[in-house]
Amino acid sequence: MSISRRIAWFSTVWLFVLLLVINGGVYFLFKYYTSEAELQRVTAQAQSISEAIRPDRGLSTGQTELLTAYVPGDGMIRIIRNDNSEAITITKDPSFRSIPRNYTTAQQTEQMLHDNQTFAIAWFPVIWNDGSIVTLQYVERMDTYESTLSILRIVLLISSLLIMVPAFLAGRTLSQLLVKPIQSLTETMESIRKSGSFQRIHIENKSNDELDQMGHTFNKMIEMLENNYEKQQQFVSDASHELRTPLTVIESYSRMLKRWGMSDPDRLKEAVDAIYDESQRMKGLTIQMLSLASGELDQSLELKEIDLSLLTKETSKKLKQVYEREITVEACEPTIILADDAKMKQLLVILLENGLKYSSDELRIILSRVEGYVKVEVSDRGIGIPNQDIPHIFERFFRVDQARSRKTGGSGLGLAIAKTIVDAHGGKITVKSQEQVGTTFTILLPDLQRKVIRDEGKDNE
Ligand code: ADP
Repeated sequence: MSISRRIAWFSTVWLFVLLLVINGGVYFLFKYYTSEAELQRVTAQAQSISEAIRPDRGLSTGQTELLTAYVPGDGMIRIIRNDNSEAITITKDPSFRSIPRNYTTAQQTEQMLHDNQTFAIAWFPVIWNDGSIVTLQYVERMDTYESTLSILRIVLLISSLLIMVPAFLAGRTLSQLLVKPIQSLTETMESIRKSGSFQRIHIENKSNDELDQMGHTFNKMIEMLENNYEKQQQFVSDASHELRTPLTVIESYSRMLKRWGMSDPDRLKEAVDAIYDESQRMKGLTIQMLSLASGELDQSLELKEIDLSLLTKETSKKLKQVYEREITVEACEPTIILADDAKMKQLLVILLENGLKYSSDELRIILSRVEGYVKVEVSDRGIGIPNQDIPHIFERFFRVDQARSRKTGGSGLGLAIAKTIVDAHGGKITVKSQEQVGTTFTILLPDLQRKVIRDEGKDNE
């Protein structure tokens, strides 16, 4: 059974039970109090008759005549002697005579079902004209009571139906409304599975309820998957494009070697050198691509407390020795932050190697704290980046000038990796550059350490 049917049935059955309990309660309470009222009325009537026919009141007419005056239109008055024989029975309807008679000296009232009809009967002891004590039996058919109850039954039944039918229809409509987005979600998922395309759910109303939110979340998830898929496709095509050049070079030199043999030492040296250079380039490219891919896939960082000043000094010292160039570090000591040690080192190496590649002068690193952040500025006085290229330099495989990058062995992945690392740390990376003047990369990393200390302070308060 579908959810919408289940909801509709559940709400209807629940409403039915509620109506049954409430209507049942109303019906039985009404029946009880009406019956009580009828019995009290009959008792009062019997009592007043017994008072009226008391022989000590000096009756002007006989008791029988008086009783005839009191007999109800739809009832009976009967006098029963102590041997259970009837002294007198007065009624306009002979069917009353079949009502059982019993002598009693106690005052009683009863509701009796006889021949499928309900009667209110009262027994009252009275002194008869011969001086004996007899029972006055006063009977009335409870017609009004019966008809009122049957009208009440019909009213309750009709009102219940009038409530239940629209309630069932409303339940069905509501459940269909609820289930519609789920159905649409399932259909979209099914269609995505079959076609392999990324589709969104159409969200009609902007009610911003839970179902709307579910639809929006689904659409956001699909958008994210689509972006990732596009990035992946782009990455694969960029990567294959980048790898094609060194592979073509290697292939053409190998073919040359095959054709001309190894006899010509000059050609042999040229080919081996070219193959070596290109394979080195390919190796570097592959390492960078792997780093980028793993950086994007694996967002988990091994965060620990590191001294960024110390790390910067150590990294720049090593590069100074390798490249034999001047790098100065200005740092407020110590700069303890929560970060991934290896990734921070990789970030600094990328920026410093770029500075070394694209300038011939001294490099400068300045570390400082600004509100909530640790700021790292890496500056060089090199060739700079043209203004129109600045917005693209963090894109993968983007190189300002293919020729100059190739000469310097660049792949266009370094800054993309740098941005991935900074993003993973929740920071920001920006660049300012002027051609033939120099370039400054600024990194803002959240001062997690300070935040932790502040939070700990709060906990201790
Ligand atoms: P590459 O490995 O080619 O250097 P990057 O992603 O590190 O790739 O840099 C992208 C482009 O940005 C490079 O092609 C280079 O032209 C330019 N660039 C990066 N850093 C600097 C810098 N410090 N000075 C001048 N140009 C730079």
